[in-house]
Amino acid sequence: MQLDGSCHCGAVRFTCESRAPYPFMYCYCSICRKTAGGGGFAINLHADADSLHVEGEGHIVVYRAWLDHPHRKRRSVGERRFCKRCGSALWVWDPGWPELMHPFASAIDTPLPEPPERVHILLDSKPGWVPVPQGRNERHFSGYPDEFLIQWHERHGLVRG
Ligand SMILES: [Zn+2]
Ligand SMILES: [Zn+2]
Repeated sequence: MQLDGSCHCGAVRFTCESRAPYPFMYCYCSICRKTAGGGGFAINLHADADSLHVEGEGHIVVYRAWLDHPHRKRRSVGERRFCKRCGSALWVWDPGWPELMHPFASAIDTPLPEPPERVHILLDSKPGWVPVPQGRNERHFSGYPDEFLIQWHERHGLVRG
């Protein structure tokens, strides 16, 4: 499906195609939390990098996150894009998976499908004040999860196109 995204001030708009658009993965790492997650987490989506079309590219800035927060000596190779006018988090692109891009669900204007199960990751980085949903359809990982975004969609029979 096509995902239409934008920043809050409207300077940046983008579209991309996703075969795996369910917003099921909640990341509580310090990077997601500080840069994109007022609620204590951010939700990353799966989309095809070569389908990306951007308007307002000149308003985008890239942040390569420090990996050893709070020491700040080593940077991630992943590129996080933001609108420099309003600060909205837009998407992450990682050179390790150049064919993919990961829009933040918060930047997407297209109504997204509701996931039948959610996955909560990097819980070791979660501060105590952030509540984590419990129950049959909530999976929890202290670190990274046991499957990629696309594999979750395959397991649930939800890959499109
Ligand atoms: Zn903006
Ligand atoms: Zn994260």
